[in-house]
Amino acid sequence: MTEKDSISAVKGIGPKKQALFYKLGIHTLRDAQEYYPRDYEDRTRIVPIAQLTEGQRAAICVVIGTEPVTRRVRKGLEITRLKVFDASGALWLTYYNNRYGTAVLHVGSTYVFYGKAQGSGAQRTMMNPASEFVPKGAQPPRRMYPVYALTAGLTQKDFGRVMAEALKVPHGEEWLPEAIAARYQLVSHAQAVHLIHQPPDARAVIQARRRLIFEELFLLCCGLARLKDRRTAVEGLYFPKGAPEDFWKLLPFQPTGAQARAAREIWHDVQTGRPMNRLVQGDVGSGKTVLAAVLCYLAAQNGCQSAIMAPTEILAVQHMKSLEGVFASVGIPCALLLGSMTAKQKAACKAKIAAGEVQVVIGTHALIQKDVVFQNLGAVVVDEQHRFGVAQRAMLHEKGLTPHVLVMSATPIPRTLALILYGDLDVSVVDELPPGRTPVETFAVGEHMRRRIEAFIEKQLAAGGQVYVVCPLVEEGELALKSAEEHGATLQKCLPHRKIGILHGKMKAADKDEVMRRFAQGEIDVLVATTVIEVGVNVPNACLMVIEDADRFGLSQLHQLRGRVGRGTRQSYCICFGADKGAQTKERLKVLCGTNDGFEIARADLAQRGPGDFFGKRQHGLPVLRVADLAADLSLMQQAKDEAAQLLAQDPVLAGYPALRERVQQMFSDHAQEIFN
Ligand code: ADP
Ligand code: MG
Repeated sequence: MTEKDSISAVKGIGPKKQALFYKLGIHTLRDAQEYYPRDYEDRTRIVPIAQLTEGQRAAICVVIGTEPVTRRVRKGLEITRLKVFDASGALWLTYYNNRYGTAVLHVGSTYVFYGKAQGSGAQRTMMNPASEFVPKGAQPPRRMYPVYALTAGLTQKDFGRVMAEALKVPHGEEWLPEAIAARYQLVSHAQAVHLIHQPPDARAVIQARRRLIFEELFLLCCGLARLKDRRTAVEGLYFPKGAPEDFWKLLPFQPTGAQARAAREIWHDVQTGRPMNRLVQGDVGSGKTVLAAVLCYLAAQNGCQSAIMAPTEILAVQHMKSLEGVFASVGIPCALLLGSMTAKQKAACKAKIAAGEVQVVIGTHALIQKDVVFQNLGAVVVDEQHRFGVAQRAMLHEKGLTPHVLVMSATPIPRTLALILYGDLDVSVVDELPPGRTPVETFAVGEHMRRRIEAFIEKQLAAGGQVYVVCPLVEEGELALKSAEEHGATLQKCLPHRKIGILHGKMKAADKDEVMRRFAQGEIDVLVATTVIEVGVNVPNACLMVIEDADRFGLSQLHQLRGRVGRGTRQSYCICFGADKGAQTKERLKVLCGTNDGFEIARADLAQRGPGDFFGKRQHGLPVLRVADLAADLSLMQQAKDEAAQLLAQDPVLAGYPALRERVQQMFSDHAQEIFN
């Protein structure tokens, strides 16, 4: 970065503001170019005052009718009012604490104001509108105003200054193959960058966005295709021996119809001579674990090792507990490999894995460390796949020659999207719950219900049940610990005779395990936890889950949490606090109360939150997208995917397209090295 490129070179941006821009990831003018507006204010259409509707954001072109009058309401609050008019009517402008800003507005001069109209009749007002002077005889400016996502201390004006400079810097060379740009009638990269920041009208925004979305998806598809190519082998292991039916005999229960069907699909895959690549989607509690076991069983019958990777230690331990006995009964040795084990324990475990003394290895991401070497890894299961990145999956995969891969997810994603994200992945859907479950009854409540909920907790405990309390969502860390502990203490006060345990992600694995074990055995009555209990843990006697600040969770996540109860024969309940936090939250929670179907909830979640949020940063493990929206831009995604495939077929390492190649590497910076090897 040269002095000249730094945003500190922009007039009006001192060290303080510079630091704030850094916080947004903007160091250079180039970075600023790529910081696209969050939204636009459409000031291209001037609306006559008489036609303003309540709540509408609009631009008006008016003459100032009265000098601004400032009134001090109380300490720290000044209100400035003035009246403006156009040919159709008059309107008040109201500003808070803006005496100096409004001082320039003189009677008789013309301005364009942009803001939200409120009230009606003589009291109609615009609050804190943005203003722009219109010189005598000039036409009012009609523009699209970009709105940037800010951080405290920065204003849109600051962005305006920086962008004005940033757009003077060349916008980067064209790197999208010409033929592709022509086929989809895309504007050039440089044009798109210019238009996205300074669009003359709404159409220009669409044009710019289309190009930027396409290029982003195209880069994504090129990278994904490369990653996949590296994984896809022509030949797979052949598992002729054994059948799911043999395995079902080892279990204390009958498989559900959906489990039996998925197991047959898996069985079929491992006999085709091609590597299996299958996604199992099933609601929480639908019994996906036994499907992992089926695959491990088939691998073992054919002399291969298998690995199950779980996102948390608690979950890995639980898988171990539920599978160890089953496998032991047919002489298949299992082992657990966790990051928290001592170096000595790990070394012993790894030695056994390398020597082929264990057939099934269950663990966390400890499994993908470099020094874990399998003798003959034939099958890989990734549980709760959305918790892992593409790269992590690939790394486990590479420990085998061409192992069969099963990924399991309780977060349903639309099938079309799954196909694109995971390529040639086959999908099994487990859409049936094991028998004997009573659906969880869910209630959304407000703070005024707290006393009654506490009484309800006690009632459930008195009846012999157990309770989870999920703490407000804060970043895992010191704060989360504090929040869990404070919560536990408060609860202890109102339930002095009950045993309350605390579970938190920052606790040592051994401590976590101990708390979980005590809860599972009924030694703890109420488990106050952060979201570490979100996935997979199974305590059938737990019949009530209370979720604090439910408004801060996504619907799908709430559904996952709720899946921790309703696993036994007791009627179970889920109570979500937060219903008093606005109409939108109430609406969202209503969906949760109305259905126990995870797929339906995922659909509602997508519709309400928008997919950008749903497929949040860490969910899919893919690079973060700036403009494209994986779910909304599906058709563009398909085109980008086809184009990427075609180009890579001709030129697999993009030798003829160095600029494109560099872009792909930038996007997949986590594994830029491997991607074009
Ligand atoms: P998930 O799909 O959420 O991973 P699990 O595999 O953890 O679900 O299964 C949840 C519970 O249901 C476990 O206690 C498991 O033993 C039990 N289970 C699974 N399949 C069946 C079945 N067919 N009949 C009865 N119980 C089952
Ligand atoms: Mg599970």
